[in-house]
Formats: sequence, structure tokens, C-alpha cells
Amino acid sequence: MPFHTPDLPYSYDALAPYIDEETMRLHHDKHHVGYTTKLNAAVEGTEYESWSIENLLKGLESLPEDLRTPVRNHGGGHYNHGLFWGMMAPEAGGEPSGAVGTALRETFGGFEEFKAAFKTTATGRFGSGWAWLVVNGPGRLQLVSTPNQDNPITEGLTPVLGIDVWEHAYYLTYRNRRAEYVDNFFNVVNWDTVAHLYERAR
Ligand code: MN
Repeated sequence: MPFHTPDLPYSYDALAPYIDEETMRLHHDKHHVGYTTKLNAAVEGTEYESWSIENLLKGLESLPEDLRTPVRNHGGGHYNHGLFWGMMAPEAGGEPSGAVGTALRETFGGFEEFKAAFKTTATGRFGSGWAWLVVNGPGRLQLVSTPNQDNPITEGLTPVLGIDVWEHAYYLTYRNRRAEYVDNFFNVVNWDTVAHLYERAR
């Protein structure tokens, strides 16, 4: 199999009470594994099975037409969830220091202002998708949202923080209250990962 679903970098219950254990089990073992399985089914036996997932998603338009949709959807799902697990951690959250903290405050006018803008982006995504903090040019930060399993790298942007706003990501605990899920997400943001991705991107 060309692609593998990475294990969670912590236990299934590590993000509770903000993200419950059953959600994490279903989300990782069923949803994420499902995306990876379908991505493999699409590319296995083709020349694209040896490509990195980043290059597949960056080069979506250059893929054969019959591969574009499965790679966009299942490849995007495979990649997005791998990023997402690493962007969270137990006993995390708080306000970031260092270069990314400075850039956030400069771009959004303060950390609270950043959180408010991120929440607006995440709650404003109609239907299923993601909200992202991306690097757009040297050190430049921007908020975007993507539908379905699209990833910003397809548009030439580098994601450094993302939140899954598909209902499967929050419905067991939060029901229809997406805004409350976004508020609590900030208790588990792994700013070390965000800083690492930011340094690599700029
Ligand atoms: Mn998901």
C-alpha cells in the first residue's frame, strides 16, 4: 500500500474533555483510515503511487482526469487528518510565543483578535470543510476555509493550523454547537507544531 494512516501521537482519550474519546476513535479509525484506503485504491498500480501526498495535492490539475476527484477527496482527507492530529496535543493551548506568536499579533491586532477571526472563519464555512491559518508569502499569515477535504496547498498556500469542521469532528459532544467546539479547540492547539510548520514555510 502506497499510503498509511499514521497512529495518533497520543491516546484516544488524551484530548478529553475538549474532544471525547469516542469521537477520536471513530474519527481516526474509521474516517481517516477510510480516506487512506480509498486513496490507495485510486493510485495503486499507477505511476502516482510513488508520489508524495503533498505533490499529488499540489499537482492536482496535472493528474489524469479520473484521478483528480479521488485524490482531491480521499488524498485530501488522508493528508488533512494527518496534519490535524499533530496540530493538537493534551495539556496544550494557551498563547504562542516566538515568531509565530509575534506574527499572529501583528497580522490580526492581538491574540484574542486572531482567535475571534479564526472562529468566524470556522463557523462561517457552510457545510463540511476546514478552516486554516496559512502562510501566504514570506512570513505572511492569512485565514482561509476550504470545502470538503480540500487542502490549501492546492492553491499554493502552506497550512500551519487547521480545524476540521465536518460534523463527524464534533457532533457527539457538541451536537450542532460548532462555535463551542471551536472555542474549546484552542485548549488543545499544539503551538509547537504550528511554530515548526511556520518556520519551515517562511
Ligand atoms: Mn474529519
